[in-house]
Amino acid sequence: MVGKADIECPHPMPGASSVSSLFGDLDVEAQADAPIGTAMTWYGIGGKADLLIRPRTVDALSALMKRCYRSGTPLRVLGSGANLLVGDDGVDGIVVKLEGPAFTEIKYNTQGQVHAMKAMAGADMARIVMDAARRGLEGLSQMAGIPATAGGAIRMNAGGAYGAIGDAVESVTCLTRTGEKVTYPAKEIKFGYRGTNIPDPVILSGTFRLTPTDPIKLRERVKEIFAYKKSTQPLADHSAGCTFKNPIDPVSEQRVPAGKLIDEAGLKGLSVGGATVSDRHANFVVTKAGATANDVLKLLEMVKKRVYEAKGIELQEEIAIWRRGVGPKDRGVA
Ligand SMILES: Cc1cc2nc3c(=O)[nH]c(=O)nc-3n(C[C@H](O)[C@H](O)[C@H](O)COP(=O)(O)OP(=O)(O)OC[C@H]3O[C@@H](n4cnc5c(N)ncnc54)[C@H](O)[C@@H]3O)c2cc1C
Repeated sequence: MVGKADIECPHPMPGASSVSSLFGDLDVEAQADAPIGTAMTWYGIGGKADLLIRPRTVDALSALMKRCYRSGTPLRVLGSGANLLVGDDGVDGIVVKLEGPAFTEIKYNTQGQVHAMKAMAGADMARIVMDAARRGLEGLSQMAGIPATAGGAIRMNAGGAYGAIGDAVESVTCLTRTGEKVTYPAKEIKFGYRGTNIPDPVILSGTFRLTPTDPIKLRERVKEIFAYKKSTQPLADHSAGCTFKNPIDPVSEQRVPAGKLIDEAGLKGLSVGGATVSDRHANFVVTKAGATANDVLKLLEMVKKRVYEAKGIELQEEIAIWRRGVGPKDRGVA
């Protein structure tokens, strides 16, 4: 459906007299009852979005956000769905997917020895890493093998043993709740453990500092990082990456790997329906055909309870969980 004015929302939103009035005149593609859980997340499970909107321009996205804000309509941004579990009964409000040239472009800017790359939020991280490596520009090799869009990676400050995306950020441009553009230089952004202090619901683009280096050596490094990830994580299974954040041990006051706690609590292989704690990496919950989001949710509760009983430490989800009727909280428009 393309900007269809008489689109019917399966679960009308309170406050929005006609949901199509939010986007009917905007340059967007709209799809009602869109199977985002099964088709657009790495888990490949979960329900539908009442409305999935693909804006074609930044102006259209900005106008949509302003109207959602005024009407109290929840709006969430879907990246590549690599850190996301959608509940079986789907999600209300509007889900926005940033695709198409306006949201996936990568541009370079070179001034003398200073190189910068600007990536729009919907650009695929693997493409970004490979493109920079081909040009012999180092700064983002730590992101090799991390499935993400640029926007999702910045939102999560994704990273691992080799560093995080925040290490290379020069600035981030966002849209505020009311759709205004705002740019933060790196010095104003706090890149923490799997998150940032960026308050805005939509990350529009990131600019990254890159340093010229030998392209052959750089490609070797990217391969090495990818091989390391492949040897330590069940990359071929359906998952959303690390399920829980590494908690702070109350005794040592240091972060302790959640996977170690889960493993030591003897939970590797624990299953509910089609969801299982991975044998390969205990902080990955993997699913097989026929699994439901509810299986994953029940398993997460069981793991949290058993780790608390065994270790006295509370685990907190790293993955985003979208549920009907539960408005976007720490991420997305509140
Ligand atoms: C096999 C596998 C391995 C993984 N390994 C790692 C790893 O090594 N390190 C690591 O950190 N993560 C890892 N992950 C998790 C995942 O790759 C990251 O969290 C990644 O940053 C998610 O990006 P995404 O675009 O898929 O975001 P999504 O999963 O689509 O969304 C995640 C959150 O970000 C928000 N978001 C997405 N795009 C935007 C935007 N443009 N503006 C504002 N908010 C936005 C969403 O609303 C949601 O709250 C792994 C996942 C998988 C499946």
